[in-house]
Amino acid sequence: MAVVTLLRAEDLFRFYHVGDAEIRALKGVSLEVRAGEIVALTGPSGSGKSTLLSCLCGLDEPDGGTVDIDGRRMSRRPEAEKAALRASVLGIMAQRDNLFAHLTVAENVAFALSCRREGAGDGAAAGIAPILRSVGMTERAAAYPAALSGGETARAAIAVVLASGAALIVADEPTAEIDAATERLILDTLVDRSRKGQGALIATHSPAVEAIATRILHLRDGVLSAGPASDT
Ligand code: ADP
Ligand code: MG
Repeated sequence: MAVVTLLRAEDLFRFYHVGDAEIRALKGVSLEVRAGEIVALTGPSGSGKSTLLSCLCGLDEPDGGTVDIDGRRMSRRPEAEKAALRASVLGIMAQRDNLFAHLTVAENVAFALSCRREGAGDGAAAGIAPILRSVGMTERAAAYPAALSGGETARAAIAVVLASGAALIVADEPTAEIDAATERLILDTLVDRSRKGQGALIATHSPAVEAIATRILHLRDGVLSAGPASDT
C-alpha cells in the first residue's frame, strides 16, 4: 500500500514581537505525519509546541516555510480555503474551548457529524449514541459544556473528533489535567484510530502518550529533533 502523507511541513519559522523583544518560537521546523502514525511532540513548556500546531492547522500563519495537509497547501492561503481544508482533513483538540458552549454534548457531536465530509475517515458515520457510549458520556449527553468536569470535557472533545471522521487528529496536550481512566480511554481511542489508518500528532508531557506513540519528536527552543526526550 502506498504511504499516505497526511501532513508535511518544511522549514517553518514563527517570530513573535513584544515591544522591542523578538521571540523566535519556531526556527526552521520540518516534519511529516503519515497515515497510521501516532507522533508525540514533546518538549518543555515554551519550546514552541502550541505555536507549531497552530501553524500546521492553519490557525496561525508561519513567517517562513510551508505546510501541506493531505497534499494540499495550507500556509498562505485565504482564510476560507484554510477552513475548508481543516474541516475536510483535521480533527483539532485545542488545550481548551473544543465545544460549542450553547450546545449540549449530544448536540456538539451531532453538529460534528453533520459537518462530516462524504466518505470521511473510517467509512460510514457512526450515530450519536454509539460515539457517546464509546467515550462513556451517555449519561452526560444532555449536559452543557459549562457543567462538565475536566475529564468529561476531554471525553466530549474526543467524541467530537471521532464524529468528524478526521483523517488526522492534531491535539495539544489532550491528557493534561485529566484522570487516569479518561487518559487511558483517549489513548485507546487514538490507537484504535491509527489501526484504521488515521494519523495523530499530539503535543504532550505525558509518558503514557509517549508509550503509545509510533514516533517521538522533541522540540527545544523552536528546533525539532527526533526524540526520546531528555529534559521534559
Ligand atoms: P509550548 O506550547 O511548547 O509551551 P508556545 O508555542 O506556547 O510553547 O510558546 C513558544 C514561545 O513563544 C514562548 O516563548 C512563548 O512565550 C512565545 N509565545 C507564544 N505565543 C505568543 C504570542 N501570542 N505572543 C508572544 N509570544 C508568544
Ligand atoms: Mg502549549
